[in-house]
Amino acid sequence: MADTLTLINWIILFGTSFFLLALSWSSFREKEIRAAVISLIFLILNTFFWSFFLTNSEVFQTFNVVIVSLTTILGLASFIKYFPGKPGKRDTSKAQQYDERDNMFARNNIKHYPELLETYYAMRPENRSIDQQIHNKPEFGEKDQVYHDPYTAPCYEAAFEYLEKSIPLSKGNVAEHKTPIDPVRFGKTIIDMSKFYGACDVSFLRLKPHHFYSHKGRHAKNWGDKTDSSHKTAIAIVVPMRVEMIKKGPTSSVLQESAQKYVEAAKISNIIAGYIRNFGYPARAHNDANYDTLCVPIAVESGFGELGRMGIFMHRVHGPCVRLAIVTTNLELPDSSLQKSLHMEEFCKICKKCADNCPSGSITHDDETYSRNFRHWSIQQEKCFSYWKTIGSDCGLCISVCPYTKPDTLFHKFVRFYISRNFLNQKIALFMDDLLYGRYKKIAKTNPENIFSA
Ligand code: SF4
Ligand code: SF4
Repeated sequence: MADTLTLINWIILFGTSFFLLALSWSSFREKEIRAAVISLIFLILNTFFWSFFLTNSEVFQTFNVVIVSLTTILGLASFIKYFPGKPGKRDTSKAQQYDERDNMFARNNIKHYPELLETYYAMRPENRSIDQQIHNKPEFGEKDQVYHDPYTAPCYEAAFEYLEKSIPLSKGNVAEHKTPIDPVRFGKTIIDMSKFYGACDVSFLRLKPHHFYSHKGRHAKNWGDKTDSSHKTAIAIVVPMRVEMIKKGPTSSVLQESAQKYVEAAKISNIIAGYIRNFGYPARAHNDANYDTLCVPIAVESGFGELGRMGIFMHRVHGPCVRLAIVTTNLELPDSSLQKSLHMEEFCKICKKCADNCPSGSITHDDETYSRNFRHWSIQQEKCFSYWKTIGSDCGLCISVCPYTKPDTLFHKFVRFYISRNFLNQKIALFMDDLLYGRYKKIAKTNPENIFSA
């Protein structure tokens, strides 16, 4: 018995030491110094602890049996799938369409168009006062903003100008001759091509009415027009952002990263739409400031992620650290949505780290509420956007502190799997995340020395 226990002690000592050493090394490589140091301290304590049983196993045999049994039970229990009180699937069958004119970018833009201002506030008088305060704040790229940098601000401005000029590429002529296709092979090629150009995930989904905006709102020339909802299929394209850049939130690095990934997402979606049109089938790309569709519900319903407390899509690998684009077509492609729950939404219920860190108080600490006829999390977009205009950046602090915003290393793959098993694992993972990375993030007073350096 004593020999068996000693052997188990050795196995646990080696196993846990290897795990902690690997954690420390990988944290060091991720520049997470706090996590690296804490795991090293754990490694030392762990070695002393198990060595103690190894050298005193006769005296402490009973205690040793208890510790080994508990460790084994906890280890095995972590594989059991169990989520009590899990809410049912989100029912979007009666979801109302969202009007793009209510989006904060649209509401900010109409300050340049007096006739649109009057039309909008006649329709939404409750938004007039808060919008006036937001209109009075400096615009992105102006020097009064906290993270304004005179040399780099023109970069993201140029990127968004480029996006605006590329809008005509999202639509185009459809080849006159329709080439017959095998939908499965065609779909696979679209996925491969999108990944070749930089996407990390692509999915096909049947479009539903609530996937479309009711009216357009981003540009004065078609403000208030009904959106085109004639297409049947959505292709959701996910582009990962660099964790190292987003971790610099809320500084200007986040806005630069965000702009760069919007450019990438636009490029990929425009190419895919053009590719489909060349086969003789209508297709249209929906990318930054050029949407008929909402990206988030389409991406969430694809099952390649879930809806997070911060009201945005949480990808199954990169968490909220992604940008999205959509291509719609009237071609029928095989539905590739996943039905397996990742249990991210359960984790959001206990985590609340984004809500604790949001400098504008835009993220709720409460459960999901019902609006537009379905249950979902959404943020107070007026507060968030107002803060963006104060600082002159996308902020992204919520994304940066989210436990899912981690590089796709072996260790973080293991943690994502661990979190997806049961509620006890989630509590332990959250405790460890707070311990290793800190619960609260200090907001930088200035931009990093090199805004573009990851
Ligand atoms: S920080 Fe926590 S609560 Fe917020 S989205 Fe991420 S996992 Fe959910
Ligand atoms: S971007 Fe910043 S202000 Fe907006 S919700 Fe996230 S943390 Fe809050």
